[in-house]
Amino acid sequence: MAEAIALVGCKGPDQEAEYLRILSAAMPEEQVIPFRVMDDAARAAARVAVVANPDPAEVAALPGLVWVQSLWAGVEKLVGAFDRPLPIVRLVDREMARTMAEAVLAWTYYLQRDMPAYARQQRDRVWRPQAYRKPSDMIVGLLGLGALGAAAADRLTGAGFRVVGWSRSPKVLPGIDAVSGADTLPAMLGRCDILVCLVPLTPETRGLVNAETLAALKPGAALINFARGPIVVTADLIAALDSGHLTHAVLDVFEVEPLPGDSPLWSHPGVTVLPHISGPTDMDSAAATVAENLRAFRRTGQVPDGVDAARGY
Ligand code: NAP
Repeated sequence: MAEAIALVGCKGPDQEAEYLRILSAAMPEEQVIPFRVMDDAARAAARVAVVANPDPAEVAALPGLVWVQSLWAGVEKLVGAFDRPLPIVRLVDREMARTMAEAVLAWTYYLQRDMPAYARQQRDRVWRPQAYRKPSDMIVGLLGLGALGAAAADRLTGAGFRVVGWSRSPKVLPGIDAVSGADTLPAMLGRCDILVCLVPLTPETRGLVNAETLAALKPGAALINFARGPIVVTADLIAALDSGHLTHAVLDVFEVEPLPGDSPLWSHPGVTVLPHISGPTDMDSAAATVAENLRAFRRTGQVPDGVDAARGY
């Protein structure tokens, strides 16, 4: 048997036991051991760590690591966190893409069918039909056309929405209008009825959705942020909602999570707060993906494609 795989950064003993069981079942040929119970010899021998939210000191105590497999898709906390430049392989998982695409479609329908307005009307006992908007008359803009953005684009076009997508490098995706690069952003925003944020958090995307970008959106547009909280400037978002330029924001991610009790977002009538649930990691599917990566590594000695440290994703 090859050296053991270190499992690092689980949230408490229950999560650790669950992850250990599922990972061991997905790759019975590997020995997966929680970092905390590894002896010095096992720590010295480990070449691969599977990590949730690892303490960098624990990763530093595994001197033989060749790469780190994350159990999450967003790895901004891992980039630059370790004492040496270790390749980080983030989770790219079909089930996560399916779940995220489903969430994007669900909350797009929520906005298209004016559910926030009907909730307010019910509270005020108001009987007033809103004008119906067809999906084919609405443009949904996707910031990010990666594993999750591309799956969302597919689901949205399948439901009849028009989709425009934005990425760093040029992309060709069936049925969508894809643009790339910073200079294309203002014109793209000006077309969007709903803007969905699915870019990773990097130095370039931190604060990307700010007063200027929000002002570039079509008047009456709505925002869905399913990526990371710091991509949106909260004060600018609230100002855009208060002015009526933006009608609603569905937020799943925040600068501080859980969202603090005194955040104005909790009670803002134009905001739907979700507790980071749009694209949860499905452990069974994630473990199968991790097992695939490990088998390829054992077979070829090649580290799977990882995060580009310079780009930050
Ligand atoms: P990904 O495959 O790396 O795709 C990222 C996309 O963003 C790519 O299209 C990339 O462009 C684009 N991008 C990055 N920086 C950009 C920039 N400066 N300007 C324009 N486009 C830029 O990532 P993913 O798997 O789709 O995941 C996206 C993010 O979703 C994750 O990083 C994570 O933060 C978030 N997430 C949230 C949840 C949740 O539950 N809320 C769950 C999972 C993931 P290129 O194609 O040109 O590289």
